[in-house]
Amino acid sequence: MESTMNTKGMLADFVEDLPKVELHLHIEGTLEPELLIALAQRNGVDIPYKTIEAARAAYQFEDLQSFLNVYYLGASVLREERDFYELTLAYMSRCKAQQIRHTELFFDPQTHLANGVALAAVMGGINAALRDAERDWHISSALILCFERDRDPEPSVAHACALGGIAGIGLDSAELGNPPEKFQEVFKVAKSMGLHRVAHAGEEGPPAYIWRALDVLDVERIDHGVRCLEDPALVRRLVDDRIALTVCPFSNVALKVFSRLSEHNLGRLLKAGLLATINSDDPAYFGGYLSENIIGTLSSLDLTAKDALLLERNAVEAAFCTDQRKQSLLRDLDQYDASHRNLL
Ligand SMILES: [Zn+2]
Repeated sequence: MESTMNTKGMLADFVEDLPKVELHLHIEGTLEPELLIALAQRNGVDIPYKTIEAARAAYQFEDLQSFLNVYYLGASVLREERDFYELTLAYMSRCKAQQIRHTELFFDPQTHLANGVALAAVMGGINAALRDAERDWHISSALILCFERDRDPEPSVAHACALGGIAGIGLDSAELGNPPEKFQEVFKVAKSMGLHRVAHAGEEGPPAYIWRALDVLDVERIDHGVRCLEDPALVRRLVDDRIALTVCPFSNVALKVFSRLSEHNLGRLLKAGLLATINSDDPAYFGGYLSENIIGTLSSLDLTAKDALLLERNAVEAAFCTDQRKQSLLRDLDQYDASHRNLL
């Protein structure tokens, strides 16, 4: 028992200082109850929770849809450019604390447009915080504009892609009943503009949605994708093409894709040779940021420090940054690896 506890403590120390990359993070999902209440008051937005405790208590979910209802309500307090700046800088300061060296953030423009907020305010606030974090903390980042699959692709959002400041587009929100085909045209246009493409698929939806995200939307990464193991031919395709899966274990448990962490299939994904990564998705809502997700998952599945290194090397390979930046991130991992050989 004692040796297990020691091993777990050592693993946690190893992961905390490990240089990390995050590839699946919704900036609206980093809205902690404290900031939610403060912004609701500052902007005069009427929300059902009046205290931090009441907001925290509401962060309990049955499935993806019940989460999305709370999530969209939370996003409604974001009104001004400075709100987006403060939200993003708070997340980037977590990155600094957790040794996240590169992060790729999603944002949901359609939600904010529906709330009457101009895209220039949303993107201006987020990008200013990303620039400050790069300047002050040397954290590189990429911004990915997500289309919400339960809404129609909106032309003003497609035009926003042309404004610059965006590395790629994604597809998120309610998966069931909203297959990828609806977004074929907008993904085609994004590719012709040189933008990267990703999509949430195979979280609650079937493996067929992953196939279609690959074949119809021509995506370079699959967000979640945990249900791919139900289809051996799909696994072969993902392995052969080195398509990364941005897996979010705490999110999967919070939304009941798996009943508990010890039942998560991350270990099996790695064993199958898939380019799996660990990410926090909506950390304010799902009980932990990146370090907590990695530590919790590895310890629940009896995975090791070596697996943590593999996950981070996978994330660097799948990141949308320059080759030069990737080399630098890999060098950091090699150095960390070399100086922790006693643990591996
Ligand atoms: Zn997500």
